[in-house]
Amino acid sequence: MKPWVQYLDEFKSLSERVLSLEYAQALIHWDMNTGAPKKGMGDKAKMLGTLGGESVKLLTSPKMNELLEILEAHKESLEPNDYQHVKHTRKRYDQMMKIPPKEYEEYLALCAEANQVWEEAKTESNFNLFAPYLKKIVEALRNFIVYRGSQEDHPYNTLLDDYEEGMTVEKLDIFFNTLRERIVPLVHKIREKSQPECSFLAEKYPILKQKEFSDFIAKYIGYDFDAGMIKESMHPFTLGFGPNDVRITTHYHENNLMSAIFSTIHEGGHAIYEQQVSQNLAGTLLAEGTSMGIHESQSRMFENLFGRSLAFWKPIYAKTQEYFPTLSNFTLEQFYKGINITKPSLIRIEADELTYSLHVMVRYDLEKALFSGACEVEDLPELWNKKMEEYLGVTPENDSVGVLQDVHWGSGLFGYFPSYALGNAYASQFFNTMNKEFSVFDELEKGDFTKIKEWLKKHIHQFGKTKKPEEILIEATGEGLNPNHFAEYLEKKFTSLYNL
Ligand SMILES: [Zn+2]
Repeated sequence: MKPWVQYLDEFKSLSERVLSLEYAQALIHWDMNTGAPKKGMGDKAKMLGTLGGESVKLLTSPKMNELLEILEAHKESLEPNDYQHVKHTRKRYDQMMKIPPKEYEEYLALCAEANQVWEEAKTESNFNLFAPYLKKIVEALRNFIVYRGSQEDHPYNTLLDDYEEGMTVEKLDIFFNTLRERIVPLVHKIREKSQPECSFLAEKYPILKQKEFSDFIAKYIGYDFDAGMIKESMHPFTLGFGPNDVRITTHYHENNLMSAIFSTIHEGGHAIYEQQVSQNLAGTLLAEGTSMGIHESQSRMFENLFGRSLAFWKPIYAKTQEYFPTLSNFTLEQFYKGINITKPSLIRIEADELTYSLHVMVRYDLEKALFSGACEVEDLPELWNKKMEEYLGVTPENDSVGVLQDVHWGSGLFGYFPSYALGNAYASQFFNTMNKEFSVFDELEKGDFTKIKEWLKKHIHQFGKTKKPEEILIEATGEGLNPNHFAEYLEKKFTSLYNL
């Protein structure tokens, strides 16, 4: 019999093959979203299907299981990173293996179809068209939860855990209750106040200048162009291939400069996270951000806590005015107030920093009710409108701008939304701790991101997937999720902005 360490090498090379296939899929995905020719799309989608099948086959192969079993039997002797690599791969293996392959295939086909129907239903604002598909998706997911054997607590926990390991309804209820008690009243109070002068937001800004400025601002916040690039896509996103190649996209609209600027800063925050993952993890399945929530915390910290602060713009506002002379008619103070305007709206992706998490709360309430059995698919439109009115004081005039607005449910993404709001809460919590060590705004006013990036690398980024989200949070800030930091941050900021 071979010495067991040789199995470790075998495991590493097998995971590297899985990773290579996954990176190949990601590259095709990147290409399809950043300007690949229209006529070739069908072939590329087919390639994605084939490569996806191959990577799953390798990941769930009997050989993989055998290697994992041997290494699990020697876990005491494994280096910490190797141990985490084995553990993470086992989790992924189990996730795939517990669901009967035929049912899973049918489910994927159902989602593909549901996605198309959703588009149609959204265009026609006809929920009844989409409802039968959504019903089947929810049914399939309810079955998967049973197969995966995690029925002992709240069934929704299984789905939450897929995007944010360790997250539960119990913890999220505390989080969202805090928002309900403290942020909902704040939003309602601000509705009665007048809005600051912000006509610059609707001015036209040349696309070419926007592109140049995007490159400038990405570099300014510390995005490494030697390990990345910026392209354009309809919806901005970040795509990482380990720490040495992390790409972002943004988008440009002539009459919406802020959309480009804040998309670039947001994606830049995601990308800096992945670029600062330890080089020791490159080439393993651990070389990426640990969870959706922690990832969002990094993008939102850059976008909101840094990017929408006065300190951030102080050193570069004159330069920004050089890029965009229209802004010369507006003071820094006016600019700051304009980029922080808050106003309840119907659409989540257009929501501002203060109201955003309340949009997520609507979805959380509904998803939780669906998986506990407290409501059914046909109840969703009415519940949606009721919650929107309660939290934001607005009621959608039709389902297209209401319950049908997001693509996620048609793709089976339940349990995913809360991570967006969690990201905001984590960000404030990290920010609070960072400020105990040095004044973040002082650094921003100097235009120097060195200390900030170092702190983030040391406490969050370097670990990749070797630590769970809650471990990172507790080790960095000394406590688990504490929504008070987020509530305090919002109260302080918006009370001052709106003279409450
Ligand atoms: Zn994001």
